[in-house]
Amino acid sequence: MSEILVEARGLKKYFPIKKGLLRRTTAHVKAVDNISFQVFKGETLGIVGESGCGKSTTGRLLIRLLEATEGEVIYKGKNILQIQKEEMRELRKELQMVFQDPYSSLNPRLTVGQILEEPLANYSMSTKKEWREKVRELLHVVGLGEQAIHRFPHEFSGGQRQRIGIARALMLNPELIIADEPVSALDVSIQSQVLNLLKDLQQKFALTYIFVSHDLSVVNHFCDRILVMYLGRVVEISSKKNLFARPLHPYSQALLSAVPSPDPKQKKDRTILTGDVPSPSNPPTGCAFHPRCTACMDICKQVRPALIQTADGGVVACHLYSE
Ligand code: SF4
Repeated sequence: MSEILVEARGLKKYFPIKKGLLRRTTAHVKAVDNISFQVFKGETLGIVGESGCGKSTTGRLLIRLLEATEGEVIYKGKNILQIQKEEMRELRKELQMVFQDPYSSLNPRLTVGQILEEPLANYSMSTKKEWREKVRELLHVVGLGEQAIHRFPHEFSGGQRQRIGIARALMLNPELIIADEPVSALDVSIQSQVLNLLKDLQQKFALTYIFVSHDLSVVNHFCDRILVMYLGRVVEISSKKNLFARPLHPYSQALLSAVPSPDPKQKKDRTILTGDVPSPSNPPTGCAFHPRCTACMDICKQVRPALIQTADGGVVACHLYSE
C-alpha cells in the first residue's frame, strides 16, 4: 500500500442561511457533510458528482481556502485545520490549486513573468535572478517558452492561459495540486493536451493530484481512483478500473451509464436519473439518494447508510451491500 499523503476525517462544511432583520441563522446548507477519505502519495484521486454535490468545496477545505465547520485534514501527520496561520502559510507552498477559469484567476494587469514571480516574491524565496531562471524553466516545462514572459494573459488562448495557471501552481515546488475542473472551460481538442501536460508533470515532479470534475470521460483517462459524491456525502470510492467495470452504488451506476461508449456498436442499458437533486439545506432522511433511487427499500428512507468496505478494496454507502 502506498503512503498516505492527505486524509480527511469527518470533514464538514455548513454554510449558515441567515434571514430577517437580525440576520438570524435559520438553517444550514450542508455543502460537505461528514466525509472521510485518504489520498495516497503520487496518485490522482478524482472527485466526481453532479453540480452542487460539494466536490469543489471539498477541494478547497483540504487546503484551507475555505475553513471547515468540523473535522480534520491530516497532512504529513498533522491536522492542518488546527495549525496557526504562519505555519499554514508555510505549508501552502506544498498545497497548490489549479482553477477552472484560468482567465479570472490571472491578474490581467501583470505580465506572465510577474504573475509567475509573485509566489516566490510572497515567500521571499531566493534572489530575483533565481526567480527569473525558475520562470523561464517552468515556461518551457509547460510548453509556452520564455517569449511569454513579457506578454499579458489576454494575449493567450484559453489552453495557453491554463498552462500559465499550471506553471504558477508549480512555482513553489508543491506536493499536492487540487485541480478544480481544470479543462472544463477548454475546447475538447485542447483538453487532451492540457491533461497530457498534467500527466507529464506528475511524473517529472512526483506530484499528487486531486482532480475535481463533473466529466466522467475525462476522469476515466486521468485518474487512478475515484470518489463519488452526492449531496455533500461520499457514496463510493473505488479504483477507476473497478468503478468503470462494476459501479456498486446506484448513483455511480446512473452517472456511468450516461458516459458515451468509445465503441458506437456497444449498446448500454442507460439508467436515467429522474428528479432534481434535493436541497442541501434540507437533505432527505436516511440515504440522501433515496428519492431518486430505483432500488430504494424501506430502510433507505430511515437510516443513513454507513460506508462499508467492498471485496475489491473500495468503499460504498448503500444498504444493498449491508449485512
Ligand atoms: Fe438506493 Fe437505498 Fe442504496 Fe440509497 S441506500 S442508494 S436508496 S438502495
